[in-house]
Amino acid sequence: VAKRQGRNTWQWHRGNGKRAINEYVLLRNDLHTALYENQFELYYQPVVDAVSGRIHSVEALIRWHHPTHGMVFPAVFIPIAEQTGQIIPLGRWVLRQACQTLANMRTQGQRVFPVAVNISSLQFHRDGFLDEVQTILHETGLPPSCLELEVTESILLEEAEQAIEMIATLRNMGIRVAIDDFGTGFSSLSYLRDMPIHKVKLDRAFIRDILINRSNAAIVEGIITMAHHMDLLVVAEGIEEVEQQEDLVRRDCDLLQGYLFARPMPLEELLALPDILPAMTVT
Ligand code: C2E
Ligand code: MG
Ligand code: MG
Ligand code: MG
Repeated sequence: VAKRQGRNTWQWHRGNGKRAINEYVLLRNDLHTALYENQFELYYQPVVDAVSGRIHSVEALIRWHHPTHGMVFPAVFIPIAEQTGQIIPLGRWVLRQACQTLANMRTQGQRVFPVAVNISSLQFHRDGFLDEVQTILHETGLPPSCLELEVTESILLEEAEQAIEMIATLRNMGIRVAIDDFGTGFSSLSYLRDMPIHKVKLDRAFIRDILINRSNAAIVEGIITMAHHMDLLVVAEGIEEVEQQEDLVRRDCDLLQGYLFARPMPLEELLALPDILPAMTVT
């Protein structure tokens, strides 16, 4: 019981850099039962058309409702899940849950958006991943065109050839692939040319100070121009201010995602949203 009390005092929030080793171990152990005990929930964050604010798609973002710590963010537990291998069953659950949810919305005659699911590079490179995607689409009845997979440049760190082949296969299956957190990785723009992807998502780090940092603004502009030459859509993440929206619209960015329009939210709230999201003041 004393241990429980101690654990209650932890602060779990994004950006909590210093975690004691025993906290890590306890959380790792809890992660093992969390899936069976239904402690995970998918939140959904809309991605909107940059100019009109019309909802274009949604990104599924996992949340862990921990019985004693409350909500734990993925920045805390996804790295642990990757280290323990737990990311495999967890990632499969996320994919199935997202596809099932969107398929249900379709059959209930609700609005449907394509759903984007984050895929860890371990999950992506595991044998049978493509079969798993195929099976989940088949079993849930979600059309492949409603599914988008978000992968990071790290999938190219090992077996780049294989990764490119897999993306081509996914594309042939009708599934879109986006490169997430683009610009933070090791790679240059030129490799994009070889990747049959559909979309790049500019990392929030570039967007944060786009209005004051001229070199970041130049990078963003370069990426957008280049991506458009390759027929790729560009999404900017982390939009919090109207001025950022205006700046990105001026630079011809296609899609925006950020608190300015909507935070990640539970399904019930998503279902209640209007088609067009007005820019809001972020507090
Ligand atoms: P990501 O895929 O780049 O997702 C975007 C993150 O930015 C989300 O954090 C979202 O809540 C946050 N965000 C969106 N708009 C704003 C904004 O205007 N301001 C700020 N400050 N933040 C904003 P979240 O949900 O905490 O997820 C963090 C990361 O965890 C994700 O980054 C993704 O890499 C990973 N992740 C989330 N769900 C999953 C999942 O189901 N599977 C895997 N493998 N990774 C996941
Ligand atoms: Mg993402
Ligand atoms: Mg991202
Ligand atoms: Mg990110």
